[in-house]
Formats: sequence, C-alpha cells, structure tokens
Amino acid sequence: MERFGADSFHSCGHPILPLADVAGDESEYAPRSGFFCSRCMQAAQTAFDTHIYVNMQQIAPRMAAFVLEVTHSGPEFAEFLAALGFEFRQASINELEPSGEVGLQPVWRKEFWFEVNLQAHYVIALMARIKEEAYLLADYLPNGTAAVHFLDFPAAYVDV
Ligand SMILES: [Zn+2]
Repeated sequence: MERFGADSFHSCGHPILPLADVAGDESEYAPRSGFFCSRCMQAAQTAFDTHIYVNMQQIAPRMAAFVLEVTHSGPEFAEFLAALGFEFRQASINELEPSGEVGLQPVWRKEFWFEVNLQAHYVIALMARIKEEAYLLADYLPNGTAAVHFLDFPAAYVDV
C-alpha cells in the first residue's frame, strides 16, 4: 500500500510524482509540496501575460550579475517565485540601471552575482544555470518557452 503524507501533494491537490515520471516539466530546482503542479499553474496563469527576462547587469564595482525578471505573475506563480528566491522589485531599465524599490512596474527578480574577472568557463556554467531556471519557470506558463526573453528588458516590452 502506498502512503501519502502532506508532502505528497501539490497545493492544487494533484499528487507529487517522482521526478522520473513528470516528463521533464518539473525539476529538482522547483519547490513542489505546497505549490501548484505545472499543469494547474499553466491553467491559473492563462489570465496573466507573464514574461521572463534574462539579462546581465553591472551590479557593483567589479561585480556583475545574471538577472531574471518576471512580469505579470498571478498569485500562485508569485508564491512559487518567492519560494525560488525571487524578490518583488521594480523592473530594470537596462544593463546599467538595475531595479530599485517597487514602483509602477513591479517584477519578481532574482540575481546571480559574479566577479567580473571570473574565469570564462565559470561564467558559462552560471549562464547555463540561469537558462535552466528560466526554462523551468516557462514550464509553468501557458505560453511556455515563448515567455522567455534573453537580453531584453521589461520596459521595452511594455513600451510596445
Ligand atoms: Zn495540479
């Protein structure tokens, strides 16, 4: 007999399947217990035009960061982002003007800092990690990978 505890279910009520059985649309990085499964999240997110922006920014002297910014999140997706370490911030303007306090154009933002003199292969490994996280998030959105934008900023999207 299989036993199910509270940790065995997503908050939508669907059982949490072993990672080998979820067809690659949930990864070990994703919080699962207490959050919607990817299918239910996609359904909940159809009401929102959510986009994911991936950029590199100068953060401090000698420090740069890969930055993920997520626009127009529904409440369940916002909770999911917070659990992944995203913070509610103002959208960035460009590579040299990172986000500040939350204002008229809020986003969920996550930064991956690195020293600008870091060896290239470490930067490339970090870049792969950022891409993986962007595509993980996309699995929870109805428009999938079409929601992911590299080297583009939310302001550019909104101005169109
Ligand atoms: Zn579900």
